[in-house]
Amino acid sequence: MSKSIPEILSGRELGIEEILVLLNSSSMESIELFRKAEEIRREFVGNRVYLRGLIEISNICKKNCYYCGIRSGNHKVKRYELSDKEIIEAALIAHKNGLASIALQSGEIENPAFTARISRLLKKIMEISDSQLGITLALGEQSEDVYKEWFDAGARRYLLRIETSDRELYGRLHPDDSGHSFNRRVECLKSLQKIGYQTGTGVMIGLPFQSINDLAHDIIFMRGLDIDMVGMGPYIEHPLTPLIENKSHLMSKNDRLELSLKMIAVMRIVMKDINIVAATALDAIDPNGREKALRSGANIIMPNITPEQYNDSYYLYDGKPSANDSDGLSLKDSLIAKGFEIGTGEWGDSQHFLRRGKGPVNL
Ligand code: SAH
Ligand code: SF4
Repeated sequence: MSKSIPEILSGRELGIEEILVLLNSSSMESIELFRKAEEIRREFVGNRVYLRGLIEISNICKKNCYYCGIRSGNHKVKRYELSDKEIIEAALIAHKNGLASIALQSGEIENPAFTARISRLLKKIMEISDSQLGITLALGEQSEDVYKEWFDAGARRYLLRIETSDRELYGRLHPDDSGHSFNRRVECLKSLQKIGYQTGTGVMIGLPFQSINDLAHDIIFMRGLDIDMVGMGPYIEHPLTPLIENKSHLMSKNDRLELSLKMIAVMRIVMKDINIVAATALDAIDPNGREKALRSGANIIMPNITPEQYNDSYYLYDGKPSANDSDGLSLKDSLIAKGFEIGTGEWGDSQHFLRRGKGPVNL
């Protein structure tokens, strides 16, 4: 007979069977799960929530992932690219407002001009912030040399979601070509770790063809990689993507939200000292989605500080919140009003990374 939820929560290391029981818990049972995740979060990474100002620098992408609204095959999306000036200004506002950390995200572009541009921007951001701003990149798959160049220019964290750790499911979500290789994605994560980045990955939750068993294995996979950060959230269908054909097979959006919160809580219990992001996609289902994640084990939130006029163009999925957190201050204030303690002026490094013996990462 399988163990009860309280037995599992008071036990030691969780195996696949225990993770499955937790992910299958009812709404009533999951209250206990969330409570435990909160307790572990407080004990291992503290009370504070850390902010990362998110700058979506471009929606130009060479890839064609079947789930994503800015895939290259979507010719209806208006493409944009922020100028260097706009990026530097957004970084400066973040710095002035005490967001100790920013994240630069974009569609995947892989060429020497892009590499050089990012290096230039990184150096400039370090310069204008007197090396005070922590910089995370989410710029997709690149060669190890490129990752190294960006690290040397000042980037310290990298987010690259594996999307799903199940190779077969990965194959159903991406075109079958060398530009969308599961192996390369894993190799990229390993390169990032080798170079010394705080390395983050994650998955989408509630994808078509995805089972709870797949998700339980995702958690085991991420533990196996010994990652420092996790960003994961619900899959949300986009009308101009191939996966929309499977819309009728999806679980309800509320179930996807509930399952995402359970994934976050289990992840916290399994990898106690990592940073976990309350993903923006949670807010596309419930305006308090990210806040609920922060009460279920997550400790990082990323206010969107992209200049407002570009907000509707970085449209990954249907209903993506276009409300801009502009300067990061409104989100910060609303979290404080709700009783959260914010780590203003602190990088909020992954404790897991620090304990792995990599030492302090501040320059
Ligand atoms: N191009 C980079 C970073 C930008 S995309 C990359 O792919 O790594 C950032 C994330 O958006 C992706 O990792 C994916 O998990 C998420 N995303 C894309 N389409 C989505 C959808 N329809 N629903 C939920 N998340 C989505
Ligand atoms: Fe491009 Fe990332 Fe979207 Fe894939 S998920 S199409 S790589 S932006």
